[in-house]
Amino acid sequence: MLKIKNLSKLYNNTPVLNDVSLDIKKGEVAVLLGKSGVGKSTLLRILAHLETADTGTMSLNSKQLDPKFLHKQHLVGMVFQNFSLFEHLTVEQNITLALEKVVNKSKSEAKSIAHQLLKRYGLEHHTRKFVSQLSGGQKQRLAIARSLALKPSIICMDEPTSALDPFLTTQVAQNIEQLAQEDYIILVATHDTTLLEKIPCTIYLMDKGKIVESTNSKDFYNNRKNFPLIDTFVAGNIE
Ligand code: ADP
Repeated sequence: MLKIKNLSKLYNNTPVLNDVSLDIKKGEVAVLLGKSGVGKSTLLRILAHLETADTGTMSLNSKQLDPKFLHKQHLVGMVFQNFSLFEHLTVEQNITLALEKVVNKSKSEAKSIAHQLLKRYGLEHHTRKFVSQLSGGQKQRLAIARSLALKPSIICMDEPTSALDPFLTTQVAQNIEQLAQEDYIILVATHDTTLLEKIPCTIYLMDKGKIVESTNSKDFYNNRKNFPLIDTFVAGNIE
């Protein structure tokens, strides 16, 4: 269980996260939903140790996460918006780089792990291609494969479908659901409400750095009127 408690963050004296708390179980997909600028990415970035919170705590399986050590524990795999792959490297090198440089795997070990991940995501015939030669769907699968390389417990995905068409969005949803079945803790920051219908998930609607309404997707679709803020957002009447 990942417990995030009372997380707050200011940028230039403006609250970007304001006392955010949520608990996410293994195998659960938490969707942080909200329009642009409400703090979704910041929450993921704090978890991935790319930013630090001003106040608040995080724990995983009852163990406090110390921000000072988070980067060494590799607990979090990140799938960035627009993939953030290393364009000048090959598909295989995108995965082996961190394995060799960050956790000191030998070249052959790193290649073997990369091969397994690339096979899993149907990219085994593209290992020597450069990222620029991949399609959007292939890039997204590579980004997911790369996020798994250091064996994280938590996977954060920032707008994973923003660059994809509906067909590829469905594929990404399937990939996310499969990871949930393997007991990863998954956080997805998105404004793409079509994902909610495609993945059983917990929905956290955010506004101005706060979680303003939450429920699981099943309950939401059983009776949308019980969740008026999420309903309004999904209906597209967010202004
Ligand atoms: P979202 O992911 O919901 O679009 P973000 O977490 O990216 O929102 O951003 C929340 C707010 O914080 C926005 O107003 C954004 O401009 C601001 N912000 C994000 N990163 C920084 C930064 N490094 N410095 C200053 N302001 C930032």
